[in-house]
Amino acid sequence: MSPDMAEREPRGLLVDFGGVLTTNIWASFDRFCDREGLERGTVLELFRGDGEALALLRSLERGAVADHVFERDFAEMLGVEPEGLIERLFGGLRPERRMIDAVGSARAAGIRTGLITNSWGMGIYDRAPLDRFDATVISGDVGLHKPQPEIYLLGAERIGVPADRCVFVDDLRENVAGAEAVGMAAILHRDPATTIAGLERLLGLRLEPPPGRGGSEGPVRGAAAPAPPRPRRRSGGSGRAKPGSSRRLD
Ligand SMILES: [Mg+2]
Repeated sequence: MSPDMAEREPRGLLVDFGGVLTTNIWASFDRFCDREGLERGTVLELFRGDGEALALLRSLERGAVADHVFERDFAEMLGVEPEGLIERLFGGLRPERRMIDAVGSARAAGIRTGLITNSWGMGIYDRAPLDRFDATVISGDVGLHKPQPEIYLLGAERIGVPADRCVFVDDLRENVAGAEAVGMAAILHRDPATTIAGLERLLGLRLEPPPGRGGSEGPVRGAAAPAPPRPRRRSGGSGRAKPGSSRRLD
């Protein structure tokens, strides 16, 4: 890799939450459908094919409707009980440890890290690994949602890295396209192995122990990477990052 290319390596990592730092979100929705006696795919079809359902979701993501209003209206569309609907929809999600650890490894190696998430109420973040991040952008807090360009730019600003030096990861194609539209490198997440390999290539870092080293010691923290050394210019906190903004979510 030429010095010029090394200079262009991304220095910021921005990631989605649901379906990236957790197990697959559509699988959780299908488990919800199984439990509620609905046909699998019902939730996904509503958001894809019903303008009213999508508008309701967008309102929730921006924080424009309260959780209980979303639950009441979406329950009516599904024909299920509204009580605790958001929790029931996400009840099948589990932390995706490999991805969470990979973000932690990137941060330990000097990459600035941020979370950009379209929120479905605030309860879901009680279990989020927010300590891996220098900054967070929760859509409901900022009145924006992916794939609006402003939300990606806000994420880049909060971690103090220009958009064209950030890499973004999301499990929705439209959100990946939104990041690319503001100049970010982006990865469409399908599984941890593929995403981590892509991140290692883009960041020039090893984020996991090599095969055969076993996982007992956890991820390699800033270990020897097959990339040329890069300047470590960032001298601790940029004043523009706002890690404190996540505190109320703890
Ligand atoms: Mg997602």
